[in-house]
Amino acid sequence: MHVHVIYTGGTIGMVDSPRGLVPGADLEGWLTRLLDRPRTPGASQGGPGPDDVTLTSLDPLIDSSNATPASWQQVIDTVRALAAPSTGPAAFVVLHGTDTLAYTAAAASYALTDLPHPVVLTGSQLPLGVLGSDAAGNVTGALVAATSGRVGGVSLFFGHRLLAGNRATKTSSWAYDGFDSPATPPLARVGAPWRWYPAPPAGTGWPVPRPYARADVVVLDLVPGITARRLEALLTPLPDAVVLRAFGVGNAPGAEPGLTRVVKEAVEAGTAVVVASQCHEARVRLGRYETGEVLTRAGAVGAGDMTLEALYTKIVFLLSQGLRGAGLSDAVGRDIAGEVT
Ligand code: ASP
Repeated sequence: MHVHVIYTGGTIGMVDSPRGLVPGADLEGWLTRLLDRPRTPGASQGGPGPDDVTLTSLDPLIDSSNATPASWQQVIDTVRALAAPSTGPAAFVVLHGTDTLAYTAAAASYALTDLPHPVVLTGSQLPLGVLGSDAAGNVTGALVAATSGRVGGVSLFFGHRLLAGNRATKTSSWAYDGFDSPATPPLARVGAPWRWYPAPPAGTGWPVPRPYARADVVVLDLVPGITARRLEALLTPLPDAVVLRAFGVGNAPGAEPGLTRVVKEAVEAGTAVVVASQCHEARVRLGRYETGEVLTRAGAVGAGDMTLEALYTKIVFLLSQGLRGAGLSDAVGRDIAGEVT
């Protein structure tokens, strides 16, 4: 099976420099050497394995902390262009920095709902040239997943697990199992043989998505003692949308004088306010407590069990489709690509 690898940058291909780690490793040579070894029939019990691997390096290669919606779109456009001919690759692996890997994976999932090819993103905590690096294991795992015939859509391979791309979040800046999928089980777990689990429902799709554009979205953590004046200042001038990271199931200090008025006035002025949770594992339920109900009355909507990465990229996606205000708030709860239960 032909797999095309798209290399975007990230630690995996970085080398030391006086300014810290920067892209610069010979990724193509390394990949050739990695694949140039005897294959077990049945490719390490995970799947059939690639018999043809090609590579595109994006220009410029970036540290994923520099990624923007234009970077997400560059990956999406590259996949679409290569997937167009019927003789093109059957699957894609995207090598990406881990810092914003989950954002790109979620963003790609909304824009590629019609793509029949699996797209598996991965990266590594240590550069490929370093002894003991996780690069080889992660790239091999991503290739096995991509050619397994068992996953569609956009997924993320890291450590020893394959996760749904729009359910994943980076949980560790150092551990080799650096990603988790707090609301849904993994899609697969590496072993002999791999174990596969049922995938979340695929979502309703988005037929002809417009490209990602930069958007004015504020992500804001509530803290005990926050005042209405501070919240108002943080939201001035009003953005297109606010992700309000509240407590627990979506509770806010509603007893703080004027605080919910700030939310109400933002909503009335056309800013969508979406309430998420600061909990790693969360399902927002705004009606459960009075402290959450006040946010519903102010016109805010809940994020359900979406990760911050899935929610933020979804809001940027919906804004890029031209949705604003109440239309945007309504669409946030719609399941586009399996990102929300
Ligand atoms: N700063 C790096 C990046 O996201 C971190 C990594 O790849 O692990 O590009």
